[in-house]
Amino acid sequence: SSLKKEEILNQAKAKEVRFLRLMFTDIDGIIKNVEVPVSQLEKVMENEIAFDGSSIDGFVDIDQSDMKLHPDLDTWLVFPWELDSVDGRIARFICDVYNPDGSPFAGDPRSNLRRVLEEMRTAGFTEFNLGPEPEFFLFKLDENGKPSKTLNDNGGYFDLAPTDLAENCRRDIVLELEALGFEIEASHHEVAPGQHEIDWKYADAIEACDNIQTFKLIVKTVARKHGLHATFMPKPVADINGSGMHFNMSLFTEEGNAFYDASDEQQLSRSAYQFIAGILDHAQAYTAICNPTINSYKRLTPGFEAPVYVAWSGTNRTPLVRVPASRGMSTRVELRSIDPSANPYLALSVLLKAGMKGISEAKTAPNPVNQNIYNMDQIERSANNIESLPRSLYEAVQYLKQDETIKDALGNHIYERFVSAKEQDWFEYSLSVSEWEKNRYFETY
Ligand code: GLN
Ligand code: MG
Ligand code: MG
Ligand code: MG
Repeated sequence: SSLKKEEILNQAKAKEVRFLRLMFTDIDGIIKNVEVPVSQLEKVMENEIAFDGSSIDGFVDIDQSDMKLHPDLDTWLVFPWELDSVDGRIARFICDVYNPDGSPFAGDPRSNLRRVLEEMRTAGFTEFNLGPEPEFFLFKLDENGKPSKTLNDNGGYFDLAPTDLAENCRRDIVLELEALGFEIEASHHEVAPGQHEIDWKYADAIEACDNIQTFKLIVKTVARKHGLHATFMPKPVADINGSGMHFNMSLFTEEGNAFYDASDEQQLSRSAYQFIAGILDHAQAYTAICNPTINSYKRLTPGFEAPVYVAWSGTNRTPLVRVPASRGMSTRVELRSIDPSANPYLALSVLLKAGMKGISEAKTAPNPVNQNIYNMDQIERSANNIESLPRSLYEAVQYLKQDETIKDALGNHIYERFVSAKEQDWFEYSLSVSEWEKNRYFETY
């Protein structure tokens, strides 16, 4: 849907666009934007909008702060809702961030993913597709409009919950997303109370990540209109399932899906096995990127449908990687550890790099594990060479520091800022004293 500048100008007029949001994503995965009046549209499309990058977390230092925003014209989108104060609408562009000298900014996660995709093309592949499955929770807003800790319903997997607001809210989210061009494939209540999942059609890497960012924005906006707070926090409530964001990934050459081979016993190609091998090899290091919060590791525990061990399977849902049953054009590899607090651009950068490394080094995938790993004991797991995912953000960052491939996938700038931000989080966390500790020790000692 590449609209030319002319067409964008015409659409802006026809749809009464009054403001433009220029969006990008910081290293933490948070959407940032500057809003400019539509009078600036031509200037925007000439890449002339500058901003001070020094105040964005993980971006630049104060002495080199004049960053430029280059809008990706393919991401032009007019939001369907009307403005409150004036007639008209808001449109947005997703932007790449550039240095004052015109080179792409190394701290921009979206540009970084472009760089890794370029390496993939050099290796002979044409496209990397992603279908994400983000899960989220809905909580009630209190009388002051602040998020409360009360879940909005008691539903379970695939429940129809006529008693609650969630059904209408979820339906409105879907309608809003459809109005923005999303092809929604499924929308359902998830296993935990107050938990939901909405899935849409896969797209190529950059567009799919853009979609995830747009999705989160829409879910939060629509939820608010229904008196609800939507959170993508991985484990907002103890003792029930957390929220994952499974990544369904597929690789293409000019001939088609590079993971499919009709002649193989499992109808998977050599590239597929090698890609899986790379994904398993680097799992402990990229977990820091795919599960980037302290809270992420409360989800990666046995018994809650989230993976804990580094293994793959065709059928079983407990391992890190699953190969869903569909073949042909939709042959894909599903990573089940990743959660929705991950920066999608960074996550896809490290996953693609890990998979490509498996291919370039012709790695051999271990045998699939087709039984429930939660039920294996330590001895059985080590007999099968099944390692554990990191148990904490601290441990994950230590693995990241030792993996040159994953560091390369991030580039030095992002790697360094990421690690120092996570170490700071860990330091602050280690100063806190939790309810659990008080309950456990206060009277015992
Ligand atoms: N909520 C689970 C997780 O944490 C996934 C549940 C599912 O989709 N089957 O990943
Ligand atoms: Mg799903
Ligand atoms: Mg799910
Ligand atoms: Mg899934």
